[in-house]
Amino acid sequence: MSTSDVRVRFPPSPTGYLHIGGARTAIYNWLFARKHGGKMVLRIEDTDADRSTEDSIRGIIDGLEWLGLDWDEGPYFQSAYAAEHAAAAERLLAQGNAYKCFCSKEELEARREAAVKARADYRYAGTCRDLSPEEVASREAAGAPYVIRFKVPRGEGGVAFKDLVYGGIERSYNDIEDFVVVRSNGQPLYLLCNVVDDIRDRITHVIRGQDGLTNTPRQILLYRALDVEPPTFAHMPLTLDLNKAKISKRSHGEVVAVQFYREQGFIPWALVNFLVLLGWSPGDDREIFSPEELIEAFSLEGINKANSIFNYRKDDPKFFTDPKAININAHYLRTMPVAQLAELVKPVLEREGIWDAAYEGKKRQWFERTLEMTRERFHTLKDFATLGRAWFADDFTIDDKARQKNLLKHPQLMEWLPELADRLEALPIITPEEAERVARELAETHGVKPGIPVNGARAVITGQIKGPSMFEVFAHLDRDTVIRRLRQAPEYF
Ligand code: GLU
Repeated sequence: MSTSDVRVRFPPSPTGYLHIGGARTAIYNWLFARKHGGKMVLRIEDTDADRSTEDSIRGIIDGLEWLGLDWDEGPYFQSAYAAEHAAAAERLLAQGNAYKCFCSKEELEARREAAVKARADYRYAGTCRDLSPEEVASREAAGAPYVIRFKVPRGEGGVAFKDLVYGGIERSYNDIEDFVVVRSNGQPLYLLCNVVDDIRDRITHVIRGQDGLTNTPRQILLYRALDVEPPTFAHMPLTLDLNKAKISKRSHGEVVAVQFYREQGFIPWALVNFLVLLGWSPGDDREIFSPEELIEAFSLEGINKANSIFNYRKDDPKFFTDPKAININAHYLRTMPVAQLAELVKPVLEREGIWDAAYEGKKRQWFERTLEMTRERFHTLKDFATLGRAWFADDFTIDDKARQKNLLKHPQLMEWLPELADRLEALPIITPEEAERVARELAETHGVKPGIPVNGARAVITGQIKGPSMFEVFAHLDRDTVIRRLRQAPEYF
C-alpha cells in the first residue's frame, strides 16, 4: 500500500453536540490522514433515526470547521445506504454466514436469568442455528418474527488481530455469541452498517475510542464473511476525570462540549493542541506544536495505552476547565502574530457591542498595539472584553481588589488624581516620558511614592490591579479618556 492510499473516517452519531472525546478522535484521524497524504472521510452515522437530529449534525460540522479539521470526502449519511446494509445481511444469509433466529424476547430473557442464577456467563445458545430450511420456511409462513444472527465459527480458534495501540488481541470463538445483525423490524444493526460503510468508503485504518474494541472481533468476522481484508485498527484510551469516571455531559456539564470552549474564548488550534495531548505523546517533552509540527510528530504508536486524565475540578472556581487547556490557550494568545489575534478578538468585541469600526481603518495600529500591551495577563479571548474592557469601552467595572488596595486606602487620591489630570492636560502631547515626569512631580509635591498615584490611576483608567506600564497607558489611550477618567476618580470612593 502506498502511503497516499491511507483512508480514515470520522463517523459521529448525530445524537448530541461534538464532545471533546469525539473531537479528539477526529483530530487523531485527521493527523494520520494529513501525515500520510491520505484522505479523511466524514460519515454521519444517522441510522438511529429516533435519536439523530439536524441540530446535532450542524453542531458537529460547525465544531469540526471551527477546530480547523477539514475532511476530504463527505459528509456521507449512513441512512442513505440502507439498501446496501440490507443486501449485505441477505448475502450473509445466502452464504450460510447468518441465520434467522425465532427465539422470542421472553425465551431469551428467561435463559439469561437462568444463567445469572447459575452464575454462568450468558451467551446465545445457538438454538436456531441449525433449523432445517423447511422449519425456517414454515415459521416464516406462520408470521413468526425473527432476527438475523451471525453464525460465529465453532470449535477451536478465534479472532486474532494486532491493534496499533493495544498490541495483539485474541478472542476465542467460544467467547463470541451468535450476534444479531438485523433486528426483528428488519433494521440492520450498527455493527454491520459500520462495516459495510467502511468497506464502501475503502477505509484502511479505523482509529476510534477504546469502547469500540469490544466490537472489533465481531466486525472482523463480518469482514471475513464479506470477503474483504479488515482494516488496521487503532483504539484510543479513554479520557477519565480525576475520580476515574468517564467524562460525560451528565456528570460534567458543558465543559465536555467543544462549543463551550468556543464560547469561553478559546483559540481553535489551542484546543486541538490540548486535546491531542490527552492520550498521545511525541516521545519527548514538547507540548506546543504548530499544525505542521504536529502532523510531523504524530504517530499512532505514540498513543498511550493508559487512560488519560482530564484534570477538571467542578468545585474549583479558579479554573473553568483543565488548567492545562487554559495555559495552552494563554500561550497561543500571548505569542501568536498580533494581526492574527486581532481577527480572533474582533468577533468577541462585536458580540459585546464594543467593536469600533475604526479598528479596521485608521485605528488598526492602535488596536493591535492594545492587544500587545494587554495580552500578557490574559488567558482567553473573552478576557479582552472583560478584564480588558476599559481599553475599548467606558462601561467597565473596577476590580474590587484594585479599588480596596489602590483607591480606598489612599483617600487623598480623590484630589490627587484630578490633579494628575490637570498636569497631563497641560502637556501638548502625552508621551510616556512626559507622563512619567508629571506623575513623579505630583508624587513629590505630596510627599508620597509615585506608585500611589500611578496605581490609583491604573484602577480608575483600566479597572485593574496590574497591567502594562501606566506611563505607556497614559500615552496610548485616548487623551480625553485618560483625563476624564482621572477626573471621575472621586466617584469611586
Ligand atoms: N458512530 C460511532 C460512534 O459515534 C462510530 C464508532 C466507530 O468509529 O466505529 O461512536
